[in-house]
Amino acid sequence: MHPTHPQHFDPATIRGDFPVLSELVYGKPLVYLDNAATSQKPLSVIKALNDYYSHSNANIHRGVHYLSQKASSMFDDVRLQVRDFINAKSEREIIFTSGTTDSINLVAATFGRKFIGQGDEILISAMEHHSNIVPWQLLCEEKGAVLKVIPMDDDGVLLLDAIPSLLSERTKLVSVVHTSNSLGTINPVKEIIALAHQFNIPVLVDGAQTVAHEKVDVQELDCDFFVFSGHKMFGPTGVGCLYGKETWLEQMPPYKGGGDMIQSVSFEKTTYNELPFKFEAGTPHISGVIALGEAINYLNKIDRNAAHAHEMALLNKATSLLMEIEHVRIIGTSKNKSSVVSFIMDGVNAMDVGMYLDTLGIAVRTGHHCTEPVMHRFKIPGTIRASFMFYNTFEEIDKLAEGIQKAKGLLRRN
Ligand code: PMP
Repeated sequence: MHPTHPQHFDPATIRGDFPVLSELVYGKPLVYLDNAATSQKPLSVIKALNDYYSHSNANIHRGVHYLSQKASSMFDDVRLQVRDFINAKSEREIIFTSGTTDSINLVAATFGRKFIGQGDEILISAMEHHSNIVPWQLLCEEKGAVLKVIPMDDDGVLLLDAIPSLLSERTKLVSVVHTSNSLGTINPVKEIIALAHQFNIPVLVDGAQTVAHEKVDVQELDCDFFVFSGHKMFGPTGVGCLYGKETWLEQMPPYKGGGDMIQSVSFEKTTYNELPFKFEAGTPHISGVIALGEAINYLNKIDRNAAHAHEMALLNKATSLLMEIEHVRIIGTSKNKSSVVSFIMDGVNAMDVGMYLDTLGIAVRTGHHCTEPVMHRFKIPGTIRASFMFYNTFEEIDKLAEGIQKAKGLLRRN
């Protein structure tokens, strides 16, 4: 059951923290419902970027001078923040990457290089984002390994009963999405992890859509890898994280070669740096990491239970309003959902609906949402997706429903 909407949570105050939410689009107030693609940024995050370049910019981990040391310690502190944010055991388990996609590619390239061979199997699910499909396909092509897929039902719920028969002694990794970006389904990853661990198979969890909406505890989940992007949780684009259990990261070869990831280099033999630096070659996105730290500060300051309850109330309201609209069908009807509503309108192209809503200042996403196999499963070309954050309001949900009604009147031929 979704929790009820608490009285004390005030999105109006929260909205004040996000400058872009006051923008006008075509002279109309922006209704930003594309949060699954990227979240908006609070002023504190924007300011952190500006402050860093104004007062602290220097390259890190290399300089003896004041600014370099300052920037290094600001950067290193964020690793501790991320450790605490997802409750990792050690900061050695936190690798900064450019985002979820990069984190998954890192695991595919290094874990894959070391542990996956001819005839081995990797298990993913039917609702993965392309970035949790294609890196494994590339690896399978290279190694002669096999990709297997956990199916889902018509509600967009994974068929857990199918998992045991999909696991074999050849399965070397399970990689599943925590929260589906196109359906909203929240998968029972803890159960999946426990199941895989019975066969000593490690599990990667794609948490791109989770971190902004729910508290994550990687030790409680007991996942072997957890990946996410900064930009979906109020941080900047181009920065993200890979959490990996130290036992795995220690055994994995480096990803990219270059500065910072080495202990010593000679033409005969190079030795690699210790964790986590072994996986961080070259100058990282220093300002991005520092601003990500500010995004974590922001999240830590708000009442996350209340924020979550508000998002569930938005989801419930949008779901009931859309269900009342004839010829509109929601795709993704799991009982356990995040604040995402994907839908189609019979006889109308999803993009046309999106473009019409845009003229009203309403930002939604249309298409396959980088989950083409999900669209194939439902035999549709794409959906219209409205995705909510705690700064969205009930009034905005009303505008969405009205907009859809109008779009239907204009675009649908009887
Ligand atoms: N996985 C999921 C579930 C996502 O929603 C996304 C972004 N839409 C990604 C992976 C890829 O994230 P990024 O583009 O930030 O690397």
